[in-house]
Amino acid sequence: MNPTAITLHARCNPGYGERLAHTLRQLQQAAGRHSGHIVFTTSLGAEDMVITDLIASHGLPIALATLQTGQLHAETLALLARVEAFYGVTIERWAPDAEAVLRFESQHGELPMRRSVDLRKACCALRKLEPLSRALAGRSAWVTGLRREQSGARAEVPFSSVDEQGRQKLSPLADWSQADVWNYIAAHDVPYNELHDRFFPSIGCAPCTRAVTPGEDVRAGRWWWEQETAKECGLHTRRNASKEAA
Ligand code: SF4
Repeated sequence: MNPTAITLHARCNPGYGERLAHTLRQLQQAAGRHSGHIVFTTSLGAEDMVITDLIASHGLPIALATLQTGQLHAETLALLARVEAFYGVTIERWAPDAEAVLRFESQHGELPMRRSVDLRKACCALRKLEPLSRALAGRSAWVTGLRREQSGARAEVPFSSVDEQGRQKLSPLADWSQADVWNYIAAHDVPYNELHDRFFPSIGCAPCTRAVTPGEDVRAGRWWWEQETAKECGLHTRRNASKEAA
C-alpha cells in the first residue's frame, strides 16, 4: 500500500494537547473580540484544514475566504466544494480582476512567472494580493495557517501581530509541527487535498507547485526555480507594525 500524508507525518508529539488547546483559545478570543469582522483566509492546505475544522466544529463566528487565483489545481477546487458540503459552510471566493489578468497574459505570454522574480511577483500581486486586499477590507482581524517550521522566512512568525493596515493578524498554528498538523487531521477525520498524498506538502497555484522528493524541504516544491530568499508570494512578507505576546 502506498504511504499517505497521514502515515508519513502524523505523530502525537509531546505538548500536542497544550498546543491544540492554545490554538483553540486564540481563535475563540479573537472571534469574540472581532465579532463579525474577522476572516480566515484559507488556501485549503493541510494547516488551513485544521483551522477550518476548529472553526466549523466549534461554531466560531469567523468568516472563511479563499483566493481563486485562476491557476489552482483541479484537486484544490474539488476540495473547496467538498469542504463546504462536509461542514455546511460557505467559503467566500475572491478572484483577480478579469480584465487585468487578460492584459497581463497578452503582454507577458505563457508562464511569465518562470522568466523573472519580478514577473512572478507581478503575477502574485495581480492574482493574490489585490483580491486579498478586497477580502480583508472592512475586517479588523484575519487568521492564517502559517507555521514557523515551514521555512526560514517564517521562522519568527508571531501568534499575533498587527499588519500595515492596523488589522490583527493571527497565526494560531505558529508553533505547530508538521506532525501535529497531520496528527490533528487523522484524529478528527478532516478532509484534505489529495495532492498531499502525492508528495505535495505545500500547495499553491498549479504552475508554481511541484511534488517534493523524500527529505526535501516542505516548501521546496514552491517556485522551485527561484532562490530560497525570494520564495514568498507577498501575502505574508509585509513588515509587521508590531507583535503581541502569545
Ligand atoms: Fe501567479 Fe504562480 Fe503567484 Fe499563482 S503562485 S499568482 S500562478 S506567480
